[in-house]
Amino acid sequence: MNRADISEHYDEISHCNRCGFCQVACPIFRSTGHETGVARGRLALLRAIIEGRLEWTPEVEAPLFDCLLCGACTANCFPAIPTSDLIIKARAQYLEKVGRKPIHRLLFDHLLPYPRRLHLAARAVALGKNTGIADLAHALGLLKIFGRDFAQANEIVERFPTRPLRDKIKNGAHSGSGQSLRIGYFVGCGVDIISQDAGHATLQLLKKIGKSVRVLENCCCGLPAWSYGDLKAARKLARRNLSIIAAENLDVIVTDCSSCASFLKNYPQLFREPERQHEKAVMVSARVKDVVQVIHSMEAAGTASHPAVTVTYHHPCHAARGQGLTTEPGEILNRLPGVEFRPLTEADWCCGGAGSYAFAHYELSRQVLDRKMSNLQKSGADLLITSCPACIMHLSYGVRKHGLSTRVCHISELMV
Ligand code: SF4
Ligand code: SF4
Repeated sequence: MNRADISEHYDEISHCNRCGFCQVACPIFRSTGHETGVARGRLALLRAIIEGRLEWTPEVEAPLFDCLLCGACTANCFPAIPTSDLIIKARAQYLEKVGRKPIHRLLFDHLLPYPRRLHLAARAVALGKNTGIADLAHALGLLKIFGRDFAQANEIVERFPTRPLRDKIKNGAHSGSGQSLRIGYFVGCGVDIISQDAGHATLQLLKKIGKSVRVLENCCCGLPAWSYGDLKAARKLARRNLSIIAAENLDVIVTDCSSCASFLKNYPQLFREPERQHEKAVMVSARVKDVVQVIHSMEAAGTASHPAVTVTYHHPCHAARGQGLTTEPGEILNRLPGVEFRPLTEADWCCGGAGSYAFAHYELSRQVLDRKMSNLQKSGADLLITSCPACIMHLSYGVRKHGLSTRVCHISELMV
């Protein structure tokens, strides 16, 4: 496999004219005011490395790894420099030079590719966390994967379900009441292990529109490994999923995790043409849909009845910028009977969760979350809706921390 080489992107990096327009959109810069935290500063760092003015030493780790990869800077950048993609490539080269942490090797090589092992690890964590039994507390060491602010980060997840969703809904085919559509349901790790209400609701919803719904035996989509810069591990996970999905006769592959949806749609970019995997990835990714798209295209979406309720919406980065799903959620919510939709200020700003970012960078993510909570409070909504389990987890934590009465839930839960 090719080695990462950020110098291949020197021209792209040099397109930065240092205008500073990215400052206004960057949640990290808006929280810290540090130039190293904004796209302009990060690109200057990459340029200095390529030009040999800086070395790949652990000192460059913080500016490389404290980016949320939210993509907001690119949307505000006249030359549209894809800073988050460049950061991922730089992380990959950094890991090649400095080395992967053993805990990441455990996670990406030995847990995420194997759902059953992941379930066992999650169960150990759940027992330790939910019971507080001292001799199981070491199981929580697994969460140290995510960083140094462990004691605080440990508060982010309130409770872990003791059994994964897959143990409750059975893999394989479920018959639905739809006409002819054969749906594959891609269960992301976050829904499988934590946001299970979303998974139950999505399955119910898909059974209404599909003739059959196959709960796929997929593994992690690979996005956590990719974001960390472990491109090899991400490709391995993608290959596994491609062979599982391509073996099924499906019209559409639906997931209720916007991060998974966005990454599955990007699978062709993981493999160079004319690799066989690239062809397979093109074929599979063309059939992937975020459940938000499915709900948006459902004529019957407005039939769920709700007591009068005010709702607002948080756009996950991987839905709004990753997939361009900016208007669909509002249109869905506006047509639901009994629902008053109040748009959220800065609705497409990252919540600070950013996958596992909140665990690794607790303080920074908390500052980003506090801003989101202040906007949420101003909305006065009863429900905060979104479409990504990592956002649900982090937003729910924010609501608890700020003592708000708003309930956070997945858009699928509103539809059933
Ligand atoms: S907006 Fe784009 S061009 Fe301007 S400073 Fe930021 S990254 Fe550079
Ligand atoms: S991707 Fe997000 S956090 Fe990273 S530099 Fe751009 S705006 Fe800032």
